[in-house]
Amino acid sequence: MSRSADGERRVASDTLLVHSGGHPRDRHGAVNPPVYRASTILFPTVADFEAARNPATRFDTVRYGQLGTPTTFALEETIAALEGGYRATLLPSGLSAITTALLALLRSGDHLLMVDTTYTPTRHFCDTILTRFGVETTYYDPRIGGRIATLFRPNTRVVFLESPGSMTMEVQDVPAIADAAHAAGIVVAMDNTWATPYFFPAFAHGVDVSIQAATKYVAGHADVMMGTITTTEALYEPVRSMVAELGHCVSPDDAYLALRGLRTLGVRLERHQRSALRVAEWLSGRPEVARVLYPALPSDPGHALWSRDFRGASGLLGVVLAPVPKRAVDAMLDNLELFRMGVSWGGYESLAIPMNPASSRTVVPWREAGPYVRLHVGLEDPDDLIADLARGFECLRAAAGR
Ligand SMILES: *Cc1c(COP(=O)(O)O)cnc(C)c1O
Repeated sequence: MSRSADGERRVASDTLLVHSGGHPRDRHGAVNPPVYRASTILFPTVADFEAARNPATRFDTVRYGQLGTPTTFALEETIAALEGGYRATLLPSGLSAITTALLALLRSGDHLLMVDTTYTPTRHFCDTILTRFGVETTYYDPRIGGRIATLFRPNTRVVFLESPGSMTMEVQDVPAIADAAHAAGIVVAMDNTWATPYFFPAFAHGVDVSIQAATKYVAGHADVMMGTITTTEALYEPVRSMVAELGHCVSPDDAYLALRGLRTLGVRLERHQRSALRVAEWLSGRPEVARVLYPALPSDPGHALWSRDFRGASGLLGVVLAPVPKRAVDAMLDNLELFRMGVSWGGYESLAIPMNPASSRTVVPWREAGPYVRLHVGLEDPDDLIADLARGFECLRAAAGR
């Protein structure tokens, strides 16, 4: 129902979020798909059983719980419709979606271009497992744009993007990078977790493989680990085969929870955006703050690209503090009540953690003098969040002796 015969979307994202993923007619009228617990799927006759076995494709035609159930298919269908890609595949975490996509697209002897500001475990996978399997990685400046072509080699197979970088929010010129890559026959893969397809339609900007840490905004309630890989039609088979060969699958309960969370993605993200912008503007005026990293702020270096390509901004942002001793930052974070401390983000709750961006980049050094704190602005009232941060700054000043 999501697209017309020529592949154009017929309805907006908010409508897709409500109506994609099977039809109530096929589930006794139930609005939501049931949780199908299935390892074995039965066939009535030998003819049916044999007809389902197609040795050319080890997936889709063989019905077996590891390869999917109506619950997982409903989630895959909704993700693919929202992304605007051909089909989606579910993985047990965001990181496994990234690593499995890279394994599917690369082989020994290939060269990978990876953005310098990528999620740190992605970088670690490139530097360890991919190196061991004979794939060479070159890191590149996130602001490289079309000049990425100067890094292409005859064996460059994939350019990987993450925009904005989920640690320090650098926005990439995705269409320029995609155009250069496609002109050289190179695949464009992107970690699209920060914006989600709701705020960044990756396929409309030339991305061939869009990856979500669905653990974050898709599930949205800090209670599910999941990843998704959505691809163009040409890349679906290699990616889906790799997932099947590795034996990755997700539980039907988690697929149900992720789909339930996804239904409200639009309203949640609009609120995350509104509150994050207020918090970011307030932080920008504080003497304790050197810089706020949030592409929706006009002062952010990525603002022009963000305004051109994105439909909105999520709730994750960075704060570079004016230089203070570590004990002052610790005093602030220890005394926040609404912003709690924990990694992962994208749930309904606000989070604040100290981070050191300098330790996970090699091309563009991190030159900020002050400490760095990453905030996730949740769904609480923004006035309460601002009051919490104001109290935190009092603790920071007291501990710094000011
Ligand atoms: C959290 C995160 C991941 C990994 O997701 P998990 O589900 O926690 O494995 C990948 N990319 C980005 C940008 C993330 O923030």
